[in-house]
Amino acid sequence: MNQHDQRLGRHIPDPVRAQNRKAIVDCLRRRGAAARIELSEQIGISPATVTIITSELLEDGVIREEPAAPDRNEAARGRPRTRLELNPDAGYAVGIKISMHQAAVSLTDLSGDILGAETIPVRANRDAPEWIADICVQQVQKIIADSAIDPALVLGVGIGIPGYVEYPSGLVRWAPVFSERDVPFKEIVEQRSGFRTFIDNDANMTALAEKWFGVGRTFPTVLVVTVEHGVGMGLVVNEKLYRGAHGFGAEFGHTKIVVGGALCRCGQRGCIEAYASDYAIAREANILGPSVDTDDPIALQNRMRQLIRQADDGDEAVISIFERAGTMLGTGIANLVDILDPPVVVLSGARAQSARAFFSSLRDAMEANSLLGADQTVDLRIDSGGDEVWARGAAALVLEETLI
Ligand SMILES: [Zn+2]
Repeated sequence: MNQHDQRLGRHIPDPVRAQNRKAIVDCLRRRGAAARIELSEQIGISPATVTIITSELLEDGVIREEPAAPDRNEAARGRPRTRLELNPDAGYAVGIKISMHQAAVSLTDLSGDILGAETIPVRANRDAPEWIADICVQQVQKIIADSAIDPALVLGVGIGIPGYVEYPSGLVRWAPVFSERDVPFKEIVEQRSGFRTFIDNDANMTALAEKWFGVGRTFPTVLVVTVEHGVGMGLVVNEKLYRGAHGFGAEFGHTKIVVGGALCRCGQRGCIEAYASDYAIAREANILGPSVDTDDPIALQNRMRQLIRQADDGDEAVISIFERAGTMLGTGIANLVDILDPPVVVLSGARAQSARAFFSSLRDAMEANSLLGADQTVDLRIDSGGDEVWARGAAALVLEETLI
């Protein structure tokens, strides 16, 4: 087998080589540095194949050698074992996260460390997609110039956007940030920036961030639920992001929790988002006054901060609003837990630091409504990394598409 692999060398058919490259990069992502023999044992491919593939990856600059301190046995043999690791400077990724009130632009290296970041105010639903693309690309150019990196080393641009994004065509079928449907945003940014561009639903991007740099390094399957202006979901199954048959997967915010229930901004009724998102909470709080325009992202953000403070200070009416929202979302997550049986659920997004009442009712509803037994727990984690999560998600998206 080894000789066979060696003889084939670089003539190994491309799909097999691509698969082996992916397996090695994935293994180094999960474990950190590893020796060639460890890679062979972990992945189950021959040492000769590992040698061939790692030589290519070293040549490409994707990985680098990390001379490790020799252990006693190796020192006795006089041959310290060289470990390999991902090379953070092999390239850079640009991230763009479009939200209702801002576009966050970032530049990261391949370990997800942020080299530069800027946010630009946008008026969701009012500014044209081309205008948003123009100001984002200007910021991209500025950050690259400020960081003094070689633009030729930028592997690509990763964009996260809330809504229905058709992957990989990059067509935004519907997004609350655009007033029009079917926006070819990937193409618009690609033409303006000159970089390879990838666009995905923002929750999918968060799930990729968890896969590459977060809990996904320990768990091969991760369910991520994002809560902010909307409710989103990303699912990594056995190391792979699940996108479904049409590239829309996995949508959660617009699944129905109450038949014929509250009106959602997607136009349908009873969606989880119509109960658990920021606008839904603020909409209900409008009854208590003062009333705010829930379509105004800045007013909504300020109102949410105020409501969280009121709830944490013991205002019972406001607490009841957060409890209801938490119960709805917790029940929805319990349904997901029953369908998917994930080992870990990560709650992410701007409202990961929300009111205490929201989380306690969410956790209670999740535990009460899922069919898991008392001895079968789901690890519920809160990721409050803020904008860093998006930047890492964008880096992960670019890595997935260009590195392996
Ligand atoms: Zn909806």
